[in-house]
Amino acid sequence: MLVPTIPAPFPLRWGFTTRQDHPADAPPIHLRQIHGGQIHPATDAVQAGDGLWTMEPGRPIGVRVADCVPVLLAGLVRGSPWVAALHAGWRGTVAGILRNGVALFREQGGHPEALVWALGPGIRKCHFEVGPEVIEAARLDPAWHEGLAEPGPTGKFHCDLHGLLRAQALDLGLDPAKEGSAPRCTMCEPELLFSYRRGDLEGRQWGWVEIL
Ligand SMILES: [Zn+2]
Repeated sequence: MLVPTIPAPFPLRWGFTTRQDHPADAPPIHLRQIHGGQIHPATDAVQAGDGLWTMEPGRPIGVRVADCVPVLLAGLVRGSPWVAALHAGWRGTVAGILRNGVALFREQGGHPEALVWALGPGIRKCHFEVGPEVIEAARLDPAWHEGLAEPGPTGKFHCDLHGLLRAQALDLGLDPAKEGSAPRCTMCEPELLFSYRRGDLEGRQWGWVEIL
């Protein structure tokens, strides 16, 4: 498992599984992911959406990915631990899943600059060739800048999804000193990571977190 490269703000277990981890080490599945921006409070039910949050110790929450970026958030809300796990592909990113997660934290009384945050492995700009509709949608995001896309060898654009998420994070007031990302490229590391685009249609890695 790849663990965020920053100390946790309270006792927790968290990280990003790889294909070397046993599936039983991951949390139970409680999301039916639909590439949107909706985040739910974690319950025992399976909910349709792309993020979960909880303040409950002993309730692990997570998202499953294989090119999309898993995002973990952890911070104190009025002295109590709060965590979230988000599934951020390009659709969810432009739909505002990270913006929604930080808004939830703020609504409950948290201060965004106090959040510890980590982006996990996903397809990086080296391999993330996209159609023009992706760049057009991403351009509508207030944090977008043209440096996040560049033409690749075939002339199609390559998009920096981690870069867009990081730009959103800073736009939302998250502290760059509290970032503990492990932004490895899923396409570049077939021994370590699942990649849907490379052909792993079933295998997934998790981004998950549990308050202890
Ligand atoms: Zn790559």
